[in-house]
Amino acid sequence: MHFRSLAFVAAAAIVGSSASLYAGPASGRSLKELLQEVKKGYPTTVEEFNSDSYAVSRHAARHARPDVHQTFTYADGSTSEVKYRRILLISWFRGRGRIAIRYSVSDDRHSRSVRDVFNWAHQASGDEVLSQEKMDSLKALLPALPHSDAEPPIHRTVLVSRQMGNEWRTETYDGAKLPDALEKIFKIIGERSETMNRHKPPVAVPVTGNGQVVCPACRDTIAVGKANGVCPCGQRIVLGNPPPKEKK
Ligand SMILES: [Zn+2]
Repeated sequence: MHFRSLAFVAAAAIVGSSASLYAGPASGRSLKELLQEVKKGYPTTVEEFNSDSYAVSRHAARHARPDVHQTFTYADGSTSEVKYRRILLISWFRGRGRIAIRYSVSDDRHSRSVRDVFNWAHQASGDEVLSQEKMDSLKALLPALPHSDAEPPIHRTVLVSRQMGNEWRTETYDGAKLPDALEKIFKIIGERSETMNRHKPPVAVPVTGNGQVVCPACRDTIAVGKANGVCPCGQRIVLGNPPPKEKK
């Protein structure tokens, strides 16, 4: 399908080296704090364009409305249109917020997902058609998503918009404690590998002299104050020495 071949640039080959650079260490700032930094209008300086806050604002702007209407122009001058209406849109921010793992389900039963690295690439996209049964279960769960304006650090922020009747509503959830209805939705649409570390049990890790811990899952070094108990990779962390192993 044109949508995938065109829109998702061939940057996959350099993912390995660029991903950590773009994810960066967790900033600990909330979505609200980051959005407050963004000035009205298009950024006027390179610094503004490259800022985490601008990247986050562009990811969040996708939640403004349910319909998607894009026109692609090919090398030979011909064009194709992509047009659909979403009933669900999820953006799960990563690292400093420059990366969003995005899921969407449209009313024609397409369940799409992509890792969107701001101003860089759309990586590892997926597009599957849900069965009518799955679609019905999903629709039944949408009204069960609770209202929430949680303000977790950006690496734990999960924006969820859904269509209910005439209303398109957006909630902000904490990725460390998602509501049951959203967990059920992920079981239906399939959760991507990027966030799977969150299902591992919390691990006790010692704090080093400079107030940092090393995540046992991804080996990244994170500042204790900014990790807030969860590494940007999703692994839950408890401070302190691991309990001694029981002797048998
Ligand atoms: Zn980690």
